[in-house]
Amino acid sequence: MPDAVSHFPAPYQELFHKVEHGLRNRLRYGIPQDPLTIGFPRTPDPEAKQKLMSIAEEVRECRACELGDIRRDRYGKAVPGAGPAQARVMIVGEAPGHYEESLRDKRAMGFGMPFVGPSGKLLDKILESIQLQRQDVHIGNVCCCRPPKNRDPYVAEIDACLPYLYRKIEIVQPWVIIAMGRFAAQVLCEGAHRGEAVGDLLGKLHPYVHDARIKVWPMKHPAYLLHQARGMVGYYEEMLIIGAAIKKAMETLENPNQCRPFELP
Ligand code: SF4
Repeated sequence: MPDAVSHFPAPYQELFHKVEHGLRNRLRYGIPQDPLTIGFPRTPDPEAKQKLMSIAEEVRECRACELGDIRRDRYGKAVPGAGPAQARVMIVGEAPGHYEESLRDKRAMGFGMPFVGPSGKLLDKILESIQLQRQDVHIGNVCCCRPPKNRDPYVAEIDACLPYLYRKIEIVQPWVIIAMGRFAAQVLCEGAHRGEAVGDLLGKLHPYVHDARIKVWPMKHPAYLLHQARGMVGYYEEMLIIGAAIKKAMETLENPNQCRPFELP
């Protein structure tokens, strides 16, 4: 039977298998074995889903920056984000890559999907380490179209695409947003400025720039681990902190639709 990661290049496969091995031994790192049965997502709200769908359709037609034309010329797909309409946890990355924009999956309804390449595979395993599944979280990007040759998105492209991200956050109303990489951290953390290194923002919760009740937890992008596998343990530790905070918040919840301040334990 083909391995779930066999379509990735060999060095990535090796890394994924190492991560899997680490996960099997996760008790060594103090990670609980029992799943976090904490009721993700909230009670479905059909209207929220509809609003997200209409943003996705806008993104599909969008030409607000040059990435839209480049995508159209390449026959690439827009990647507006995916996940429950009212997830407790949202993950925001930078921009789609080759795997994301060329996904062929009927369930994606003609869109690409965020984080399905090597970084995404790693993200799944990291989420698994804190007992979260991909379907528990809403995942998006700062830019919805792939920059050519996977370069960093330009400031003008980020600015053009940000309104979509901010509208989605307003609909999803997550408790916590995990900002993966500097571009996401810079546009989501209150008080952060463009050009700020993600290292200066790591290790604490920041208020979300448009709603202080929502918290942002900046992290390095999982792509960093593809080149720096030694950083994996530290990365796990950061995920453990946020996983423990989510668990604590859910345990103290009085009803499943309640919104409450989110804090570190
Ligand atoms: S990156 Fe965003 S703003 Fe630019 S064309 Fe794509 S959807 Fe529109």
